[in-house]
Amino acid sequence: MSNIKDLEDRCSDILGPEAVLSDEPSRQFYGRDWIKDFKPNASFVVLPSTTEQVQQVVRLCNERMVPLVPSGGRTGLSGGATATNGEVVLSLERMRKILEVNQIDRTLRCEAGVVLERIQLEASSRGLYFPVDFSTRGSSQIGGNLATNAGGIRVIRYGNIRDWVVGLRAVTGAGELVELNGSLFKNNTGYDLRHLMVGSEGTLGVITEATLRLTTPPKDVSRVLCGLSSNDEVLPLLAFCRDNLRDLSAFEFMERRALQEVIHHRSLRDPLSQAYPSYVLVEVELNWPGASEQLENTFGEAYEKGLITDVVVSESVAQAQELMNLRDLIGETLSSHYTLHKNDISVPVPSIPAFLHELHAAINEKYAALRAVVFGHVGDGNLHVNILKTSGISDTDFWKACHEADHTVFSLVQRYGGSVSAEHGVGLLKRDFLGYSRPQYQIDLMRNIKRAFDPLGILNPGKIFAAC
Ligand SMILES: Cc1cc2nc3c(=O)[nH]c(=O)nc-3n(C[C@H](O)[C@H](O)[C@H](O)COP(=O)(O)OP(=O)(O)OC[C@H]3O[C@@H](n4cnc5c(N)ncnc54)[C@H](O)[C@@H]3O)c2cc1C
Repeated sequence: MSNIKDLEDRCSDILGPEAVLSDEPSRQFYGRDWIKDFKPNASFVVLPSTTEQVQQVVRLCNERMVPLVPSGGRTGLSGGATATNGEVVLSLERMRKILEVNQIDRTLRCEAGVVLERIQLEASSRGLYFPVDFSTRGSSQIGGNLATNAGGIRVIRYGNIRDWVVGLRAVTGAGELVELNGSLFKNNTGYDLRHLMVGSEGTLGVITEATLRLTTPPKDVSRVLCGLSSNDEVLPLLAFCRDNLRDLSAFEFMERRALQEVIHHRSLRDPLSQAYPSYVLVEVELNWPGASEQLENTFGEAYEKGLITDVVVSESVAQAQELMNLRDLIGETLSSHYTLHKNDISVPVPSIPAFLHELHAAINEKYAALRAVVFGHVGDGNLHVNILKTSGISDTDFWKACHEADHTVFSLVQRYGGSVSAEHGVGLLKRDFLGYSRPQYQIDLMRNIKRAFDPLGILNPGKIFAAC
């Protein structure tokens, strides 16, 4: 009997046959993530229901030296959850219990397979708030969110998900069950291993449970869409908003084409009177009695000072949602209507305008058949650089040109002291470009950390860096 068949049978004994899938559609489905750049080739899929079952599977894989890919909602955009090399996929989708909500210390404990939106709703039903939010809230899982240190639109006010994790339970690559920090808010007893697990993309351990911090919900929010005469106006407006608005919770930037594609393809109404070269969507929490007036006055003054050319302030919940849809739908709209190469990078906030100038100049000069369309969470320096295929180039030549253009973009990112992955992780997609952001000694340190958690290299080998 082959090693893999034997492993499959042992998993079946432990988890039950219904929790082990080896049919072709399941291997295809669970073997890839949202970007679909990598051909799936999973051996089989396991769906454990408890931490103890996860531990047994990890130990079996260690005994047989078979690699394992932890898998969440597979909405990742860097190939982190893909199984391309005969790995076993370990999906957390059956581990979806909310275990406890503690109103006194405002925490929520849940299994790793709970989708983000359920956590938001559970918090809200108790009069509390989980502020981490982005458009895959309905399908990405908290384990995947933690493993990628997810960000999103409210990072400027609330930080990344790392700031919201109190404790974790995980099974290391060696098969040890680790309880990291429990429910403590203060614990200075050496290295904080919980934070090593956050952002580790399934290479150190399988997260099976998380305790998350909750907070007070905003009383109300308002959103404002601004039309700008150029990308150069974005940072003066950011500084002005920071100086004048008390509870700024999002500051999203969109180039003309990003927003206009959504309006056109979704048949939506343009809330502004005409198209502008650049847009900013601002979200403000209205937590105190004078907040609405402050908002109106701030944007009135921004208009008078010439920081913005046009503006619409939401006047109802429905209109606030309409404005957010324009931002939320960009990724999906571009992907549905174009052959598209995505990049998620960050640069220091003050250098964004200069970076954008150089980026467009470099792409236009070297790659006449490519178009760069940029949008992103500009308040924290995070830009989504999308390269669109035009009709003047074949598919094959497009992907070849994109590969070359990646080096152009990442050299620029490096020169500006930026990161080749702001919030989507490294996975397989950015692995060969890691050196643009991390010097070799840091990559070596990361490899040593991996060896400490996963001595046989069972967990997600080849992701972040080449297999040890
Ligand atoms: C349209 C769109 C918009 C997006 N917007 C944002 C955004 O604004 N901000 C943002 O940060 N991301 C965004 N993303 C990326 C993605 O949604 C996030 O990275 C998300 O956190 C991934 O969660 P997941 O459950 O889908 O993880 P997966 O894709 O399943 O896995 C991601 C990585 O985590 C590992 N992993 C999964 N579960 C576990 C676990 N339990 N234990 C250990 N490792 C695990 C996997 O092995 C893989 O390496 C977006 C994606 C799309 C498609």
